[in-house]
Amino acid sequence: MTFIAPIKFAIDLLAVLLLALGIKGLSKVRSAREANRLAGIAMMLAAFGVLLNSQGTIGISINSWIWIICGTLIGGLLGALTAKRVPMTAMPEIVALFNGCGGMSSLLVALGVALFPSSDGSDGVVGELIRNFSIVVSLFVGAITFSGSIVAMAKLQGWLSTPSWTQSKARHFFNIFCAVLALIGGIYLSIDGQNGLFLIVIASSLLGIGVTLPIGGADMPVVISLLNSYSGVAAAAAGFVVGSQLLIVAGAMVGAAGLILTQVMCDGMNRSLVSVLFGGALGSSSVASGGGGEYTNITSCSPEECALSLEAAERVVIVPGYGLAVAQAQHTLREVTRVLENAEIEVTYAIHPVAGRMPGHMNVLLAEADVPYEQLKEMDVINPEFPATDVVLVLGANDVVNPQAKTDQSSPLYGMPVLDVQEARTVFVVKRGMSAGYSGIKNDLFDLPNTSMVFGDAKKVLGDLLLELKDLGVGSKG
Ligand code: NDP
Repeated sequence: MTFIAPIKFAIDLLAVLLLALGIKGLSKVRSAREANRLAGIAMMLAAFGVLLNSQGTIGISINSWIWIICGTLIGGLLGALTAKRVPMTAMPEIVALFNGCGGMSSLLVALGVALFPSSDGSDGVVGELIRNFSIVVSLFVGAITFSGSIVAMAKLQGWLSTPSWTQSKARHFFNIFCAVLALIGGIYLSIDGQNGLFLIVIASSLLGIGVTLPIGGADMPVVISLLNSYSGVAAAAAGFVVGSQLLIVAGAMVGAAGLILTQVMCDGMNRSLVSVLFGGALGSSSVASGGGGEYTNITSCSPEECALSLEAAERVVIVPGYGLAVAQAQHTLREVTRVLENAEIEVTYAIHPVAGRMPGHMNVLLAEADVPYEQLKEMDVINPEFPATDVVLVLGANDVVNPQAKTDQSSPLYGMPVLDVQEARTVFVVKRGMSAGYSGIKNDLFDLPNTSMVFGDAKKVLGDLLLELKDLGVGSKG
């Protein structure tokens, strides 16, 4: 069966190429879907390559192949069904669940190799030590990722609340105790490859729960991104365990990408990673106590008045937020902007890095409605352009346009980078009422003289706006 060796080499090479193409394609919204598919095929090929063992023979029995094929089909079907059915607003939960699956698979791979070692001792003492150490890392990080991700998903879904003891110092003692137990298990396992196996799995799983349970509110998606990075580290360690260079490379890339994303999110929310991990349940509930006060100068208007301002504008900036995703108003918004563009009004979209509930949330939402990617401008690019903007339409966004973040040092949002929409000539804010955004605090923008509130569900208001614009004949000439 030596002909298997070149086949395995060709499969691995193809997988690496497809993975590289996939990663390149993911950098653009337009090609992201196709790129995701390519990366998926690459991972499937990589897994197949691992099953052909390095001596160039098919190392497993036909019976095992049947199990593997059945498992792949069931897992694939469940994944496809979940991905099809999940609403955009529940993406963070689903990402957490998938991270947890990644952590669990690395854990199971390491557990399988530790329980049923196939080594004949020819690796030597150093080889054995490296193998055992890789198993320890895979078990430790895989278990933390799995239990932490499941807790994160359950908290986001509202299935789990934050127990009061996790807000006290007791949680630090609990976590240190679990970490010490995991370390003891790891040392035993590194030495002889057998003892300490279940100690490390149980202690690391409890550590994952202990670290994630106290975290709440807006910090949870940051933790999910960090757990995503962990799942990459666990996969890379599993790559060492099964001797797959491809898995090591792919795992390391996921680990690094997750870490970069975590940093971007921390910067976007003006939080440090240390305060996220050890600060307890900050976020919506705790922040709500600050930045309060009553609104004193609210002006509201109808979609008709808003349409009149839009008709007279030369330059319009749309600011999408979480409420736009909740209302699923992206397609109606696209119809409105098409009408404006037909009237030769310049339309751009201001994208805040943490608008919505996960990074890239707004990009994906707008791409779904065929908004040209070139019209999407990031915060640093669009901020200097607001003074030259006639109308800003804020759609279901709140925290990301709160000037308090720059003007009020006592505000919990102080220091968070925000979109300077108040610099524009006129600002319309579309939301259902005066309730706060995710941070739970008052928004000073709503009190400013150049701001008008258009109350209502984003989809309904945009639908009305479209009718008004058509009645006015905007965009119908030529
Ligand atoms: P916010 O959560 O601050 O505000 C959303 C607004 O949408 C609310 O004020 C709500 O007001 C309004 N809204 C809800 N439903 C509708 C609807 N159907 N129609 C119209 N309006 C609606 O959203 P932002 O996007 O401005 O900010 C995101 C927040 O999430 C930030 O605080 C950020 O830090 C946090 N976050 C973001 C992450 C990310 O990666 N993107 C990760 C973690 C946290 P009303 O109820 O009155 O309608």
